[in-house]
Amino acid sequence: MFRSFVVFILACIPAFMSGQAKYTAVTDAEYALITSPDDKLRILNIFDSSDSIVLRTPSIDVDVSDTIWNYLAQRMCLVAQEEGVGIAAPQVGINRKVICVQRWDKPEIDGEHPWEFYFNPRIVEYSDSVARRGDGCLSVPDGGNYPAIDGFSYRATWVKVAYYDANGEFHEEKVDHQYTAHIFQHEIDHLNAVMFFDRQKEKDAFFKN
Ligand code: ZN
Repeated sequence: MFRSFVVFILACIPAFMSGQAKYTAVTDAEYALITSPDDKLRILNIFDSSDSIVLRTPSIDVDVSDTIWNYLAQRMCLVAQEEGVGIAAPQVGINRKVICVQRWDKPEIDGEHPWEFYFNPRIVEYSDSVARRGDGCLSVPDGGNYPAIDGFSYRATWVKVAYYDANGEFHEEKVDHQYTAHIFQHEIDHLNAVMFFDRQKEKDAFFKN
């Protein structure tokens, strides 16, 4: 028992030292959901007890060389485009590090700011400055009508994000457009099982002290 634990730890060291993403292959259940014949993926609701378990589970990395994740990202973008500005994979029932973000810092294409998706994103640097901003979530329908949930949060005004793009290329990008930086923070929070109203409570407590 102890020996196998030591072997496990030793096996993990190269991954930690190299900074390589740690992932498992797509599961049968994930594949079935990603390729479902439905017109669009269902968006989970934080107030549904089984949905909330998924939304409150931290997500794991994906293998950026597996095109199934590109397909998932494209389907995610389709549902988010209808009424949102971003979406994260847990919101469609997949606990994987995939997000779609509308790039309000980039020029419009056909009358809309472009949508992009990112794999294994993480925030590697935050601004010191914080802004109280309007916020909302596709998984908190009619959020402002729920008691104790107001439609705002506190966010860094810029962030540096590390991610893999649709071609599997690694990037580090400083996003200094405040609204776009806000969206990145909101979506990456989902990958860490954090909802926007969690941020609201934390910061409210902080600023009142
Ligand atoms: Zn959200």
